[in-house]
Amino acid sequence: MDAKEPAESEEVIFEDLDLIYIFSSDLGAPVEAEDLKELLERFSGRYRRVEGIWIPPEEVRPTPEFIYHKAKGLGIKDADKIDIKELIKNEKFIEEIIRAHATFGAIISEDRKVFSPEYLELGRYARLELIDLNVRIKDRKLSYLNELKCELYLLLHTTGICVLTAWIHLSGNFSTDDLIGIGKELYYAECTIEDPLGNVLEGTLDEFIGGVIIKTLRAAVLFKGKYGSYDAAFDALERGDITDDKIEERLRTPYLSARAVLCIRKHKCNGKCVTAEEAVENHLREIVGISRACEGWRYQRIDDARKGLGENLSPDVNCAMFVTDPVSLFFGFQHTG
Ligand SMILES: [Zn+2]
Repeated sequence: MDAKEPAESEEVIFEDLDLIYIFSSDLGAPVEAEDLKELLERFSGRYRRVEGIWIPPEEVRPTPEFIYHKAKGLGIKDADKIDIKELIKNEKFIEEIIRAHATFGAIISEDRKVFSPEYLELGRYARLELIDLNVRIKDRKLSYLNELKCELYLLLHTTGICVLTAWIHLSGNFSTDDLIGIGKELYYAECTIEDPLGNVLEGTLDEFIGGVIIKTLRAAVLFKGKYGSYDAAFDALERGDITDDKIEERLRTPYLSARAVLCIRKHKCNGKCVTAEEAVENHLREIVGISRACEGWRYQRIDDARKGLGENLSPDVNCAMFVTDPVSLFFGFQHTG
């Protein structure tokens, strides 16, 4: 992957970023806690891009699809003919699976800290790690980004709500205008989306997330009753019997909430910022411009910019956090020159 060249030297340059999209959507109806496991197993068998499933209070369970995919990647001969119970006897193999789920494991250990054991025992929600996507940008304006890795995590709650998180790392150097463009356009940019299993989709992240993942889950939850099973509902979706219109008319709300969080770990400037707190003050227009996706950020009045950013939620001067619209910001501090 080619890193992007710095923009003009007098500008602030941001480096080492993560752009995180968080989508919350209605699946149309509640899912009983005892049905959740079956839904996830059927979804994972059909969608074939699920790496791991966690239904509290149990441990994370890697899916058979992921175990075989990993075994093949590690060069285990005739992996698909070996029983899973045999494969997972290999300690190195298990270490590899745990390494692959490091971020997923960190999310789950946060849940275990935040929620009481009594709540987790109820199994009211589940988390899934989906297979990483390779996103090749075709859109002319963003083509300099080349290829991006996108990690996907899904949360399903028995109330029939799902939250999908798409985590994209941006390596290289970016100006304020670059980041405003990325924040506005990346989600709708034409790209080729590939996964390591060889599935390829030409389209946008919006089409993939809404049109593939969320639509599949909505079809399962809304039409299991009509067709008799989750699998039969997936078949009906594939045949085209379950259309977008039929899904939409049964939803409790068509509203799909999309939020973006930009994590900036480093920046380069001509100033003398020593902490994230100072960096926010010194580069207020840039930071507010990114958070508001405002191309006219250079002309913003400073007191208006300060007001727009709101309260810094970080208790620590080496980090700054703002919940802003349309892009929330997590600003870490590592000055690189
Ligand atoms: Zn600075």
